Amino acid sequence: MRGGGAGGDPAAKDPRVAKFYITTAIDYSNGDPHLGHALEKIGADAIARYRRLAGDEVRFVMGMDEHSQSVVQAAAKAGVSPQAWVDRMAQTFAAYWTRLGCSHDDWIRTTEPRHARAVTALLERIQQRRPEDLFLASYEGLYCTGCEEFKQGAQIVDGHCIEHPTLTLVPTKEENQFFRLSAYRDRLLELIRSGTFAVEPEIRRNEVLRLLESGLQDISVSRVRQPWGIPFPGDPQQTVYVWFDALINYLSATGFPDAGFARLWPADLHVIGKGITRFHCVIWPAMLLAADLALPRCVWAHGYVQWEGAKMSKTAGTAVTLADAVTRHGPDALRYFLLREIGFENDGDFSWDRLDARYTADLADTLGNLVSRALSMVHRYRGGVVPRDPGHYATPLEAAGREALAAYARAMDAYALADGAAAIIALAGHANRYVEETAPWKLAKAGADAALDTVLANLVRTVARLAGLAGPFLPEKAAAIWDMLGTGRPHGDLRLGDLAAPGLEGRTVAKPPPLFPKG
Ligand SMILES: [Zn+2]
Repeated sequence: MRGGGAGGDPAAKDPRVAKFYITTAIDYSNGDPHLGHALEKIGADAIARYRRLAGDEVRFVMGMDEHSQSVVQAAAKAGVSPQAWVDRMAQTFAAYWTRLGCSHDDWIRTTEPRHARAVTALLERIQQRRPEDLFLASYEGLYCTGCEEFKQGAQIVDGHCIEHPTLTLVPTKEENQFFRLSAYRDRLLELIRSGTFAVEPEIRRNEVLRLLESGLQDISVSRVRQPWGIPFPGDPQQTVYVWFDALINYLSATGFPDAGFARLWPADLHVIGKGITRFHCVIWPAMLLAADLALPRCVWAHGYVQWEGAKMSKTAGTAVTLADAVTRHGPDALRYFLLREIGFENDGDFSWDRLDARYTADLADTLGNLVSRALSMVHRYRGGVVPRDPGHYATPLEAAGREALAAYARAMDAYALADGAAAIIALAGHANRYVEETAPWKLAKAGADAALDTVLANLVRTVARLAGLAGPFLPEKAAAIWDMLGTGRPHGDLRLGDLAAPGLEGRTVAKPPPLFPKG
């Protein structure tokens, strides 16, 4: 699934460095972000941080989808202009993502001029190259303002949208601009089946293939006389449909249509939720094909965070708030919990009991305990200075460390984030057992200096490896461990390869404060 280095920008300093352009879905400007939003941003952030660790030139983009009709209603209710409303919401979302340690390089908002320019340019490009793909037709149907989408068939239950049972479907008849989506069915089937356009995980790929096999209808891509949005090129009565508008953000953030956009495009990975695969795996690639632009390499559709078995976004008012979840044990603990326990593939339940249990067992008692005892023993037996290893790296712990590095890289390359997180805690657990088995206190008492040096050097090396591997999951705590190790290492420059031999002999380590304090 890696982008590969061969196709990079020939003008780049080192052509072997692969670029990795990763995006998340952009969020509607209504309501505060919840744990479902957080899982997606944190997961994408962990992948972006891992790719930097692996040496890729990463571009990580997040943002806001601001042209929804619900913005106009919410703004009116609040007595402010739509722009003032979306400005306020963008600040709220951005503050959460900063608090959760998201390391995005760009923050795109669909009300920005650079985005309107890209939307206009993409539509004009399709109009010029395939005029038959955009046409006027009249449409009559039931519109859900929650989904911003016309609904039909199984999407309607008891007269309501299946996703929004409390909203009223609006009967709508309009003359709209249409996109000839039906023309792209066969090519999309072939591109997805061959893996040229990867839809992951497999369960989502199969869903998308079944959808394509059942046939595609042309879709309306504009709304009439709706002032909030981007005017349709060549038809100012029409406003670009909010989904068509929003999908183009991935291209706007590359600088499209300016020539330099191809330095980033195509995207290497779009991270989205499983509920919007039709837009990202069918409509978006068809739009790109119509414009003769390259398709993203991969779409990864994660599952939902649930609260007592229900999707988090549907349980507003009763479910846990993101603010409470961050406050419980801090942002790093929430990041770790969501990626380890919920994971990035299937749905999973959030519960306070499980969050507390993971915090105590994995973080405090395993990882935190190891860091604390390893560095404390270096102080107790060697005055805080890491000894040279006379054992020439030939211990069971050393072998476990190398295996953990390999298992972690395999998992992270496959976006199996729960397995990557598990590899970290497994190595910390191994190191804790190594302490019990080698009993450094007995070696000290017996004056077995060389054996004690080997144990201490191995433990410190393992702590450094854990700091490196933990960075994508626990960025704040990883930085704190590096500080305790006295490396002064600029964390951004760390590479996976450095962890094979972290080279800490002779450094003075800190007396460790508890990394994961217990209430
Ligand atoms: Zn709906």
